[in-house]
Amino acid sequence: MSANHPLLPGAKIGMLGAGQLGRMFALAAARLGYHVHVFSPRVDSPTGQVSHRETVADYADTDALVKFAQSVDVVTLEFENIPVAAMESIEKYAPVRPSRAVLHITQNRLREKRFLTEAGIACASFAAVNSLTELQTAITAIGLPAVLKTADSGYDGKGQTTIRSADEAAFAWEHVGQQPAVLEGWVDYVQELSVLVARSTTGEIATCGPIANDHANHILDVSRFPVPELAHVAETAEEIGRTIVERLDLIGVCCVELFLTRDGQLIVNEIAPRPHNSGHLTIEACTTSQFEQQVRAICGLPLGSMQAHTPAAMVNLLGDLWVNGEPSWLELLSVPRGYLHLYGKTEAKPGRKMGHFTVLGDDAARAACEARKRLTRHRNDAG
Ligand code: AMP
Repeated sequence: MSANHPLLPGAKIGMLGAGQLGRMFALAAARLGYHVHVFSPRVDSPTGQVSHRETVADYADTDALVKFAQSVDVVTLEFENIPVAAMESIEKYAPVRPSRAVLHITQNRLREKRFLTEAGIACASFAAVNSLTELQTAITAIGLPAVLKTADSGYDGKGQTTIRSADEAAFAWEHVGQQPAVLEGWVDYVQELSVLVARSTTGEIATCGPIANDHANHILDVSRFPVPELAHVAETAEEIGRTIVERLDLIGVCCVELFLTRDGQLIVNEIAPRPHNSGHLTIEACTTSQFEQQVRAICGLPLGSMQAHTPAAMVNLLGDLWVNGEPSWLELLSVPRGYLHLYGKTEAKPGRKMGHFTVLGDDAARAACEARKRLTRHRNDAG
């Protein structure tokens, strides 16, 4: 397919990664008449359960990767930590969107922060850390409190620790596994938010946000959209998102996570080159969901509108809810404007994302209250 020739419904899309993001992508693609072939390291994956075809193999299995790539018209992904060698094998046979170059930057916090700095986009002050001595030097330069994060493969607060006094340095270095890391200055934020940005093969861009995100134990708890209190930073947030996808030459959907500081500044926390947990509410709140938008962007179709037609809030359903066995879903299913999504995961572990629950309302804050209230009651029922 060239940029001028869209891949129309009926085409075959390869999906790298097989979790809930791939699952919701596959459902959106199937609705538009596409065939999804998922490459999964495990059997019975959330994406495999709802895809036309599933290859179960390791990312080191070059033969399987080549056969997978030869069977599809385009390849996309649902997580950024795809090994570079696997990407190289695939891209000989099918275009990968977003590209290996985008993943190279977004797989690594240090490269990502250098990219942001070069693009003139504000992020927390940072320093590369490769040893305890470098960490001590970085603490002196950046000040405390600060957050030490592994440079590679951290998510949901994993591989990171807050340092409040200099004598915690040795513990922090142990905690991140003594591997290449980044020390980040503490950001005194009043709200975490995100913007979704889609960019298609034609260069068309569509945005959604800002979405307000509240975390619990470093994991996203509740998202709200639209957010009138954030209207004053909407234009700047959107501009940051546009600059990032254009500079990265990203094709697909990208989520930019930001902090709004006490003095009204927007600071980028991180970039996810794929749909994001905070965008799940777009399924019910927007004409075009982030997953349908990913299909449109990588296939060169016109992008849809990600403006909210109805305010919404989303609450994550973590494995903790399963503490006394399978929860009773009746309370959530009886919410008139509620939408229950379960990801088909069999093993519930604390902190594991098992599903989410979206509530539509007259405004997003009230929808969030409703969702939280129902979930608390649901928790009590389950307990
Ligand atoms: P991350 O894995 O980088 O998304 O970080 C997980 C969470 O830790 C964020 O959602 C914030 O709540 C918090 N956090 C991360 N970095 C910082 C920072 N530099 N300053 C303050 N809080 C942070």
